Amino acid sequence: MKKKTLIKSVICFSLVGVTAFGLNQMIKKQPDLTGKYLQNMVVSAVEPDNETLANQDYTVLVNAEHPLQKEYVPRNLVTVSYTEEKLTEVAAKQMSAMIRELEKEGYTILPLSGYRSYDRQQTLFDRKVFELMQTNKSLTKEEAEKKAAEFVEIPGTSEHQTGLAMDVALRDDEADPPMEESPEGKWLIDNAYRYGFIVRYPKTEDAKKDVSYEPWHLRYVGTELAEQLQKSGERLEEYKEKILS
Ligand SMILES: [Zn+2]
Repeated sequence: MKKKTLIKSVICFSLVGVTAFGLNQMIKKQPDLTGKYLQNMVVSAVEPDNETLANQDYTVLVNAEHPLQKEYVPRNLVTVSYTEEKLTEVAAKQMSAMIRELEKEGYTILPLSGYRSYDRQQTLFDRKVFELMQTNKSLTKEEAEKKAAEFVEIPGTSEHQTGLAMDVALRDDEADPPMEESPEGKWLIDNAYRYGFIVRYPKTEDAKKDVSYEPWHLRYVGTELAEQLQKSGERLEEYKEKILS
């Protein structure tokens, strides 16, 4: 999900459900996070394939150069507090725990979009292509697809298919300061690593053009690597390139 308009439409959709339930009633008691789950973390420099992900390589790199197979579905998807959205088990527990800590600080973030199947991503992509062709009748299908890829990730290239990525939003997005300027966004940039998440991507001065700015997109990589990246300021891509070379 790359475009704010899209995010807003998801927010509107999600808020209906959230309001109906009442936010607080949706907080479920979660078991304490213990080392039992985190010990299973495997840090390795392998390409995303079914076996790797089935073994829960939380550091897996998925992008246009490293796409996932169409068939890949994470094994252990569970629901994150506040939402029907799912992540793989450890990531879901950590996300829920992080949301609870944010609550204690007086902040609320909404988990809007977690695991997305290849087919779901295909639907989002096709919808964007259709929308672009409707607004600009002179576009060919190929041109529209190329343009659509600037807004919506091509199926197979989205981290959401790993079950390790969650898009979050502020509770009151209409009154928004941009995510990274909000207290919640700043808190996430400073603290998400403690729960094993990295923000992909905060604005930085050396930001590469080919990396989209998505301060609402949180990716679980495990607490060990998240802390390392937080300290070094490296992106996951840079870390992976280094250990693969
Ligand atoms: Zn995302």
